[in-house]
Amino acid sequence: MLGLMQDWPLLCTKVIDHAAEHHGGREVVSRSVEGPIHRTTYRDVRRRSLRLAKRLQRDGVKRGARIATLAWNTWRHLECWYGILGAGAVYHTLNPRLFPDQIAWIMNDAEDEIVFADLTFLPILEAIAPRVSSLRRVVVLTDAAHLPLNTLDAVPYEEWLAEADEDFAWVPAEERDAAGMCYTSGTTGMPKGVVYSHRSNVLHSMIAVQPDAMNISARDRVMPVVPLFHANGWGIAFSCPMVGAAMIMPGPKMDGASIHELLTSERVSFSAAVPTVWMMLLQHLQATGGAVPDLKRVVIGGAACPRVVCEAFEKRYGVEVVHAWGMTELSPLGTLNVPTADWEGLDDEALYRLKEKQGRVPFGVEMKVTDDQGHDLPRDGRSFGRLKVRGPAVSSAYHKGAGAEAFEADGWFDTGDVAHIDASGTMQITDRAKDVIKSGGEWISTIELENLAVGHPDVTEAAVIGVPHPKWDERPLLVVVPREGASLTRQAMLDYLSGRVARWWMPDDVVFVEAIPHTATGKIQKMELRKSFADYRLPSADPVA
Ligand code: ADP
Repeated sequence: MLGLMQDWPLLCTKVIDHAAEHHGGREVVSRSVEGPIHRTTYRDVRRRSLRLAKRLQRDGVKRGARIATLAWNTWRHLECWYGILGAGAVYHTLNPRLFPDQIAWIMNDAEDEIVFADLTFLPILEAIAPRVSSLRRVVVLTDAAHLPLNTLDAVPYEEWLAEADEDFAWVPAEERDAAGMCYTSGTTGMPKGVVYSHRSNVLHSMIAVQPDAMNISARDRVMPVVPLFHANGWGIAFSCPMVGAAMIMPGPKMDGASIHELLTSERVSFSAAVPTVWMMLLQHLQATGGAVPDLKRVVIGGAACPRVVCEAFEKRYGVEVVHAWGMTELSPLGTLNVPTADWEGLDDEALYRLKEKQGRVPFGVEMKVTDDQGHDLPRDGRSFGRLKVRGPAVSSAYHKGAGAEAFEADGWFDTGDVAHIDASGTMQITDRAKDVIKSGGEWISTIELENLAVGHPDVTEAAVIGVPHPKWDERPLLVVVPREGASLTRQAMLDYLSGRVARWWMPDDVVFVEAIPHTATGKIQKMELRKSFADYRLPSADPVA
């Protein structure tokens, strides 16, 4: 017997239709690339997205075509997403922080036909466009008055858009049709294309807005600092209109002062970003004595959130921190560390130790940890192994069949992360599989050591890598960026860690550097660090030591 309920397709266009109809006047505020603050509403975003879809059709864009964006978070970028998918095409976010050669490779792999680019990124496009054979038009997200001379035959967005009206119906789509695309940054091998469907985006947003996930509602003013080009913009471009939350878009300026200015002037209640962004904001607040009175909650993910960041937000500024883990392949939310009734009565130490973990899965994500042979490991909060997930917003394959080894026959996706899960279902990432340090056959978690090291008041950033060792195979080397003006010594750093970690986890040496390299998505670039310290000889490797 079949259920007698309607087959209401889960389409992303329905999200903006709903927002325009039921939250039409809700604001979308952006710091524009040209400079001034721009204000619009969901009603107008939808109108202009309809126009954009119609204009794309006139440019010959067919269902399933990939249309790229190389843009900051602004209202125009949001219009591009809805206009592109509403034309039956696929929005493809490009990460401008990648090397131009990588961007060109990705555009060719995706076969992008048109690209919408911010003024900031014209030089990148001028350098690579001739090498992207599928590319036939560049639209610059500005008006004619701001468009500089260029070698691209580029057209200004506003005038191009004005050539169509909004008398248009979204191109009919199936819920399993592709809606969006985002490449993982390729820290393991070549970048791989993740392809979202309408269905996965809608389900992911329904999961994301829940109270025990991001907890976004029509009462929130949400600032996605996380760029739309990072891991599907954490789904925020769908979650906010779905519930009628206002959106405050930071545009090209993501330094501490600019973020602080918007947080206060626009009374932002909720925001999401990677830890490095929050560290910049906290440094700015500390230096200026500023506050964030309207901010209630921040989601921090993309890299492990150190305890100092969590404590500073909660204790000094009264902002609740939700530590989350996700991946481009998961749309991207995987786990969120939101309190349960069992947390009541925890003392400070237990609470913040718990908050360092990446959290529990919401309904819609299944998760397990296995050993290298694929056997499930116990949920004891200690046994760590390969973290695997499945769910309706988890990738089933990469574009063109790349990286097929990550997808197991029974539907599990091997994340490449190493983690353990405790009896309450709370997961903690200990490393990416390729970064873990193997010392004498045992594993040392670099993330845990880094979290501890940045707890020292004189440390701005810290990274731990494995360095070859004649006796133990590998031993940890701690690389530290000291706070400006601080006179931190190797011994002081080791003394600080001593007693806080098992003795055999203690770094064998500490080196001080001016900066630590980051990937295009804000993670520490361990591969680069390992290369620069490839010839490093630990004192403990010396036979006399
Ligand atoms: P990319 O791989 O392109 O850099 P992703 O954002 O998809 O971009 O990266 C996902 C990876 O980021 C995860 O597999 C994990 O290693 C890391 N990560 C994400 N969130 C956290 C977190 N809260 N703690 C530790 N690592 C995290």
